[in-house]
Amino acid sequence: MKITFPYMGTSHIAFKMLIEDLGHEAIVPPKPSKKTLTYGTQNSPEFACLPFKILMGSYLEAIEQGAELIITSGGAGPCRAGYYGILHQRILQDLGYDTKIMVMESPYRNILDFLGKIRSVIAPTGVSWWKFVKVFRKAWEKLKVLDDVEILSHQIRPYEVNRGETTKAYKKCLEIVDTAYTLPQIREAKAVTAEMLNGVPQDRHRRVLKVGIVGEIYVVLEPFANHDIEITLAEMGVQTHRSIYLSDWTRESTGYESTEKVVEAASPYIDELFGGHGICSVGHSILYSQKGFDGVVQLAPFTCIPEIVAKPILAKVTQDFGIPVLTVFLDEQTGKAGLQTRLEAFVDLLTQKRDKLEGIAI
Ligand code: SF4
Repeated sequence: MKITFPYMGTSHIAFKMLIEDLGHEAIVPPKPSKKTLTYGTQNSPEFACLPFKILMGSYLEAIEQGAELIITSGGAGPCRAGYYGILHQRILQDLGYDTKIMVMESPYRNILDFLGKIRSVIAPTGVSWWKFVKVFRKAWEKLKVLDDVEILSHQIRPYEVNRGETTKAYKKCLEIVDTAYTLPQIREAKAVTAEMLNGVPQDRHRRVLKVGIVGEIYVVLEPFANHDIEITLAEMGVQTHRSIYLSDWTRESTGYESTEKVVEAASPYIDELFGGHGICSVGHSILYSQKGFDGVVQLAPFTCIPEIVAKPILAKVTQDFGIPVLTVFLDEQTGKAGLQTRLEAFVDLLTQKRDKLEGIAI
């Protein structure tokens, strides 16, 4: 079977390996582009949020490449994510495609449904449950390495001596991880790529600002959706720390907080889950402030209810904790140049604030 999945950050490298290990053909959708967004916008309801439109376009591009099944994740809570799968499926049907969408909901919601869907993927190729667990573990390991490489690249980029060198090294690192197929190869790729990135010439005397990135998961993880915001900020001398990675819950040891801790931090302001990552945007911003970060950028798809609810709460967080928060709403009209100007102004503000605090004359 030809199987595709949403394109989000670098996760396609791990998902491709998993699907091939399960005996299917992986159809990796093209990296999201203007064409993807145009396709998606033309075939989505106008009010749909940006991730919905990019995914719609991405599915259509994958179908052009022959995809027969789309495997995607579901969503819970009072936002639209839970209806994505059904709505995408209806639109595909209306367009005359018989490609099926399989929505993987959390196993905590319905374990039998979750296992049944996995069985329907592994049974046709005769893959046993034992083999599935083995190859899933391997793919998970790869996903973690991909995230580790990206985290390191964001730590190094603001210190690079020659602009663009980290990004060049990072692209080579992704190729190395992509070609690692066994567990020992994946572990070796982690060591090799760390060495490569650390080898980028750096000026460690540079005074960089630290900014946390919070917001809706898709626009935080997919550089096309956020106009490469982390690279843009790094090239302005800002080190970013992203609050969400796909392999998140394994990295509490590296400064990433558990969801419980994030929700607890947000609880004096809001103690009810309101869908998406809204409550996490609030909790992470408070934690960033407590850790001495200079500012926070909130990334929100236009019309995203959870992030709209979080925005006024973040204004209160700024008042109480003194941490500036820049909210960036993203839709198909957002341009890179306009965003760059807003980021420059924000970085200027953070620099002045830091200099004032440190008693440096402006
Ligand atoms: S979290 Fe926001 S962007 Fe994501 S599905 Fe819900 S409303 Fe849309």
